[in-house]
Amino acid sequence: MKSIDDIAAALQGYDPQALSVTQVGDFLAQLVQPISADESQDVYLFDALGRILAQDVISPISVPAHNNSAMDGFAFDATQLVADQPLTFRVVGTALAGKSWQGKVNAGECLKIMTGAILPDGLDTVVPQEFVQLSSEHDVTTITVPPNLVKPGDNRRLAGEDLMQGQPALQGGQPLTPAALGLVASLGLPDVRVHRRLRVAYFSTGDEVLSLGEAPREGAVYDSNRYTVFGLLTRMGCEVIDMGVVRDDPALLEAAFSRAAQEADAIITSGGVSVGEADFTKAMMKKLGDVAFWKIAMRPGRPMAVGRIGKSVLFGLPGNPVAVMVTFLAFVRPALLRMMGSSAQPVPLLRAKCLEPLRKKAGRTEYQRGVVNSAPDGTLQVRTTGNQGSGVLSSMVQGNGLIVLHHNQGNVAVGDEVDVMMFEGAI
Ligand code: AMP
Ligand code: MG
Repeated sequence: MKSIDDIAAALQGYDPQALSVTQVGDFLAQLVQPISADESQDVYLFDALGRILAQDVISPISVPAHNNSAMDGFAFDATQLVADQPLTFRVVGTALAGKSWQGKVNAGECLKIMTGAILPDGLDTVVPQEFVQLSSEHDVTTITVPPNLVKPGDNRRLAGEDLMQGQPALQGGQPLTPAALGLVASLGLPDVRVHRRLRVAYFSTGDEVLSLGEAPREGAVYDSNRYTVFGLLTRMGCEVIDMGVVRDDPALLEAAFSRAAQEADAIITSGGVSVGEADFTKAMMKKLGDVAFWKIAMRPGRPMAVGRIGKSVLFGLPGNPVAVMVTFLAFVRPALLRMMGSSAQPVPLLRAKCLEPLRKKAGRTEYQRGVVNSAPDGTLQVRTTGNQGSGVLSSMVQGNGLIVLHHNQGNVAVGDEVDVMMFEGAI
C-alpha cells in the first residue's frame, strides 16, 4: 500500500496547490486497489445484476449445441448445387425445433426444416421456403430451387458460433449487464461468482447543514449531498452506510471517521475542505489519516481531500452540491469502479455542436451542465442549462450530460464542437 508521499513523489509535476484533472486521475489509480477475490461470493442470476464477475465464466457447453437452421425452409447437401441451373429435390420429411429428425436424406432429396431445428449430418444449406416452387403429385412433394439463389452454408447456424465449450464466455471484472445475465443463463448456469459489494460510508459536514426534519434556520441549508451521494453509490451497486450530518465538533467528527474507517472500504464526506474553512473537518482528517489537501484546476470542485484513514480510502469532497456530483463523476466513480474489481471502460464522450458561446479560461477543466439533443439533420447539438453556479443543483436535473471543456481549451464559439459526458451510462 503506497503512502500519499510515495505516490506524490512518483507523479510528474505534482503540485497539491494546482493539480490537473488528469493528474488527479493518475494519482487515484495508484491510491486504490481492487478488492480481493478471496471475499467473492456465488449469487443466483436474478441477484447478480450490476455485480462484478470475480472470475471468468467458462462455457460448459457449446451454444448453439448443434448445427441448426436459421430459417423455415428446406435443407439439403450443397455439393449438389450447379451454377446457373435450377435444382429439384424430393421432400422426405419435416424437422421441427426441439426434436431431432431420425432418418436419412439421400442425393436428390431434401428435408423440410423449421427455424432452430437441428440440421442432420450431411445437410449444410437451407433454402428459405418463400424462394422455392413446390409441387405435389401422388403424395410426393418436390421443390425446385431457382438457379444461383443459395450458396453452400446459407441459413445454417453453426454449433458453437455464439459460445464454444471450454472457452471463457465472460471475463472476470466484467459487470453483469442484462445481456451478460442472459448469456450466463444460455449456458445453463444458475449462479455466478461475483466480488462482494464495496462498502462505502458517507456523511455531510458543516454546522449550516440541516438534516431533513429539522426546522429551517436562517443561513442554514438542507443536506442534499447525502441524497445525491446515496443515489450515485446505489446506482453503482455499492453497499451504502449512511452516517448522517456530523456537527462541526472534534469528538463527533473523530467518532464518525473512526467508525467509517472500521466499517467501510471507502469514506465520502462533503464540505469542510476548502481553504477558508474554520471548522475541524480537515484537522481531523489530518489527525486520523494519511491525507492530502488539493486544489484542482477544475470548475466546479476545486478543493478536495484524498487519502486513507486506516484501510479505508477517503474522498473529502467540496460542499457545493454540483461540485459534489461533478467530483464524484470525474474522480470518485472511476476510483470506486477500480476498487470493485470492474474492468468496465469509461463510456466515450460524445461530440456535439455548441449552440451558444462559452467563456472558458485555458489552464483548468470545466464541466458545464448541458442539454444534448438531435438537430433536424440528425447531428447532435448541445446548449447549457443556464446559470452554472456550483450550488445550482437544478442544473444537474435539467441537464442530460456534462459539457467537458478540457484543460487547454479556450473560449467556445457558436457552432464549435464540444465533448459531452452523458449522464445515462455514467450514473
Ligand atoms: P464548504 O465546502 O464546506 O465551504 O461548503 C460550500 C457550500 O456548500 C456551503 O456554503 C453550503 O451552502 C453548501 N453545502 C455544504 N454541505 C452541503 C450539503 N450537505 N448539502 C447541501 N449544501 C451543502
Ligand atoms: Mg463548510
